[in-house]
Amino acid sequence: MTDLPDPSFESVLPQVRRLADQANYPIQYLGGEFNLVRKDPRAMRGRVALCYPDLYEVGSSHNGLQILYQIVNAHPDLAAERVFTPWTDMADAMRIHGVPLFTLENHLPVSGFDVLGITLQSELTYSNVLETLDLAGIPLYGRERTEQHPIVVAGGHGAHSPEVLAEFIDVFTPGDGEETLVPLLELVAGHRAAGTPREDLLHDIARRFPWAYVPSMFEARFDPDDGPFRGLVPRYDDIPAVIKGASVFDFSATPMATRPVVPHSRAVHDRISIEIMRGCTRGCRFCQAGMITRPMRYRTVDDLVQAAEDAFANTGYDEISLTSLSSGDYPWIEELLRAMSERFAERRVSVSLPSLRVTGELANLPGMTNSVRKAGLTFAPEVATDRLRKIINKDIKNADVLQSAAAAYKEGWQQIKLYYLIGIPGEREEDLRAIVEFATELSRLRQKVTGKGAAQVNVSVSTFVPKAFVPFQWDGMMDRETVREKQSWMRGLNRSRRVKLKFHDPDQSYLEGILSRGDRRLAPGLVEAHRRGARFDAWREHFDLSRWLAAFEDTGIDPEAYALRERTRDEALPWDHLDIGPQRDWLWEERERARKLIKTDYCVGKVCHVCGVPPSLCFAIKRDMGLLDSSKRPILAMDDEGKTKGLEGVDDTAERRLTVASPGQVRSARRPQD
Ligand code: SF4
Repeated sequence: MTDLPDPSFESVLPQVRRLADQANYPIQYLGGEFNLVRKDPRAMRGRVALCYPDLYEVGSSHNGLQILYQIVNAHPDLAAERVFTPWTDMADAMRIHGVPLFTLENHLPVSGFDVLGITLQSELTYSNVLETLDLAGIPLYGRERTEQHPIVVAGGHGAHSPEVLAEFIDVFTPGDGEETLVPLLELVAGHRAAGTPREDLLHDIARRFPWAYVPSMFEARFDPDDGPFRGLVPRYDDIPAVIKGASVFDFSATPMATRPVVPHSRAVHDRISIEIMRGCTRGCRFCQAGMITRPMRYRTVDDLVQAAEDAFANTGYDEISLTSLSSGDYPWIEELLRAMSERFAERRVSVSLPSLRVTGELANLPGMTNSVRKAGLTFAPEVATDRLRKIINKDIKNADVLQSAAAAYKEGWQQIKLYYLIGIPGEREEDLRAIVEFATELSRLRQKVTGKGAAQVNVSVSTFVPKAFVPFQWDGMMDRETVREKQSWMRGLNRSRRVKLKFHDPDQSYLEGILSRGDRRLAPGLVEAHRRGARFDAWREHFDLSRWLAAFEDTGIDPEAYALRERTRDEALPWDHLDIGPQRDWLWEERERARKLIKTDYCVGKVCHVCGVPPSLCFAIKRDMGLLDSSKRPILAMDDEGKTKGLEGVDDTAERRLTVASPGQVRSARRPQD
């Protein structure tokens, strides 16, 4: 047990109740939900406030947050509490009345916790990161914090391009969070109890944990006269220059959120969420999630069904969502759906498969055709022409979507949602026209196969934003004016009342593009934008790009250089110091193949492209799961026609440590050319 760091570490619930009375959705500030864990903070050795920097209704059902909450609270002497960014009315009232940001379990000030752990799921929440720190009374800049303040840790997708927030976050943890949060919290709590100076504490984190990026331990170098980023240099000899993203290899042993906190007001995901596998090796060249979560890891059908049973018993939800990046690629999908259907159909619990890849066998999937309620049918073809398909390396044919949709219509589905991207490098007018024409064809197909009315087809069209660790990471994004012209041209093409085109706001995409590949020189621009009122940028009613542009101008930042500029092959990138799997040379080669319209096969079974993840790891996982005949050697598929070549085995003589997940859990792997 440690002394509480701040004498004001006491519940602010009475003040919160008074303010919440005047706020929208007051219940979101009151806590007390079903499955909430409330521990005595004074009896705990370490305390973390887990923050999703958005409104309660967005963050409360986030599966990653629920998993970390469960993992930490499973420890008898550690406690996790939750915190979300209050909406503007509540935040303004808190400032006026001097009420600090608080957690929902014990309504304790966030500033009194050992660690504030923030999940970064979207660049459009970065202004909310500042808002959260500010409301908590934690100095925005890490260098201004003292031993009294929490260590501010950030994980999630944003931790894979961390430099833009390097001045505000003390520790980034790229990769999987399941095995990193507890050792980090224990170390921080121990140091705080011992009164270790903050600089020494951060130094120790950087020294001990190869998966922890502590930006203040690195000096950033730039070309003279505010030129391009030139790299990061560790400030101490005992700090590794390369940070290895944490990866949970024994995925089936990691806990699932089977006792999630059930929000008692509206939430974006009002259902059980079961992650059936992690990773996707389809190799889509725009997709950051697929690149940073390699290798593929799976759970067994038995474990998933048991988890669904437990979560159902613990929550009473009537929908189970089987999540992953590409659920149709789960090797035992039919078996899983059959088992789910047998267990839940009679109980009228629906099973949904978001991120379903198109297959002609959809109608044959058990559970999609019987009494299980049709909970939703969504496809993400991303593009509608074969040429762009080769560029992005996503091999979903229109014919496959039509076949799947026809089967679904016959089974009673009436509505389909499609996701597309515009602004991809190499895009032409014909590619945009094809999206509208295909959506119309898909809608009319229902008349043909059922004799009933046309289907409702909702098309969500996003603008491509280049992200770290994808083959297009060197490309510039399309400027706002061009995006607007394309959107309006597509709107004009649409003649069907049953096809609804919904476009992402080009201004929001532009801000996302600036922040997604930024470096630490952007920090004054973020602070100024927040000072001018930027918060909740993901919310269209609150987003205002002019605040950001004025802030960048005031602080001498050229946003176009971040969002629109194409990088050269040799240019240092602000995430080069992170090793999360796919390597730079392989990503560049993939970019070249995109330009030559060459497809790269899915690295399934024994096919491997040696992307940078140790192949022996991938094959060990597949063998463990019974997905690979142990006598077979991997094939390397690298020729220019996109065909597999040779049956050479991977040279796995060199030993390489990929990550240290926690003390005593050193993971070793083999990898060629190390
Ligand atoms: S190492 Fe090979 S099998 Fe593993 S993710 Fe990379 S390309 Fe796929």
